[in-house]
Amino acid sequence: MNASSGNTSGIALLGATGSIGLSTLDVVRRHPGRFHVTALVGKSQVARMAQLCQEFQPRYAVMAAPEESAQLRAMLAQQDCACEVLTGVAAMEQVVAAPETDVVVAAIVGAAGLLPTLAAARAGKRILLANKEALVMSGQLFMDTARNHHATLLPVDSEHNAIFQCLPPYPIENLARAGVDRILLTASGGPFHGMALSQLESVTPEQACKHPNWVMGRKISVDSATMMNKGLEVIEACWLFDATVDQIQVVIHPQSVIHSMVQYRDGSVLAQLGNPDMRTPIANALAWPERIQSGVASLDLFKVGRLDFQEPDLKHLPCLRLAMEAARVGGTASAVLNAANEIAVAAFLDKKIRFTQIAAVVEDTMEALPTASAKSLEAILAADEQARAIALNQVRTRG
Ligand code: NAD
Ligand code: MG
Repeated sequence: MNASSGNTSGIALLGATGSIGLSTLDVVRRHPGRFHVTALVGKSQVARMAQLCQEFQPRYAVMAAPEESAQLRAMLAQQDCACEVLTGVAAMEQVVAAPETDVVVAAIVGAAGLLPTLAAARAGKRILLANKEALVMSGQLFMDTARNHHATLLPVDSEHNAIFQCLPPYPIENLARAGVDRILLTASGGPFHGMALSQLESVTPEQACKHPNWVMGRKISVDSATMMNKGLEVIEACWLFDATVDQIQVVIHPQSVIHSMVQYRDGSVLAQLGNPDMRTPIANALAWPERIQSGVASLDLFKVGRLDFQEPDLKHLPCLRLAMEAARVGGTASAVLNAANEIAVAAFLDKKIRFTQIAAVVEDTMEALPTASAKSLEAILAADEQARAIALNQVRTRG
């Protein structure tokens, strides 16, 4: 809490105009006496950003590029909003570290979120992490930075927030000491669950983005359809909970009612259940260790009726397999996997490659690049850049 702002928490929201950003603001809107917005950060949706600035009156609004900043400034000049419009990554780093910011919601999609999220860790803020790609890229460096600067890292990804709720109170020292045998990471299986490879050849971006249970941004929707999302989440869980890949079991659970589970050595399995709505994990992390209203309807178990579980078959889920391999290899392998995946997903959304070629682009990029140590930010960014160049080439030759 920031005493200077009348005991309400100041929130800097990275990725304000996206799916997680808007869900966060929906929760914030319900608790005006508890939270206020210090900064909103976005990329391209200028009109939406102007509306949000008008409503939440942040001290700062940051756009990724000068053209959008100029447009936003012009729009805000017509409105009753005194917020300062800034541009670029350095400004994002500045607003997350500003003294009036207590909480940073990291909800930019992809590698673009890495530098501002790391800046929040360096500034010792309370970080609500949705941007899993940032952690996948920089795992050890990010966790060390957060620890050394006494940042509080709270997972927003629904599975990781569920695991967080099923573990002993934060911070988790050691899974073995806590009596944990395994983490059971649930996966819906996405829109194409159970479809044959031959049918997957011709699926469209529109079909891939139509998730059966969740409404999300386009990139994570495609990741859910390939199950790369679950692979990124395995890596995310390894870092957040100091777990090995072998301590994590992916469980296909098509209803997405159980958001994940923790299995203890005495035979107990603790689960977190709820309707699939990101406002629950967001509200949990915003108010932690308290509980607040999120706007999510309570779970009707009679309507749910049944819960199903299946073991994933890695032979038919190449993206999940590749991510688990990258987690085992360590170093820059996860950054390479992530970068290649971002390029491949963008190419699929642009209809330059087929759905089934996403995994092939990632696999060939990983094979082409030797793994290096990921101890420094420079090494991580270099691996990201090299992987993007190779993956782009792969897209060109396949497209
Ligand atoms: P989205 O595409 O809906 O929104 C992305 C946001 O990031 C937008 O506000 C966009 O303006 C911003 N952005 C993109 N590039 C930027 C840049 N270079 N600089 C500044 N801002 C930039 O995505 P989303 O679904 O909200 O997902 C956001 C993150 O949360 C992703 O990492 C995703 O994996 C994670 N996540 C999302 C969900 C979900 O339900 N949507 C669930 C769990 C985790
Ligand atoms: Mg998730």
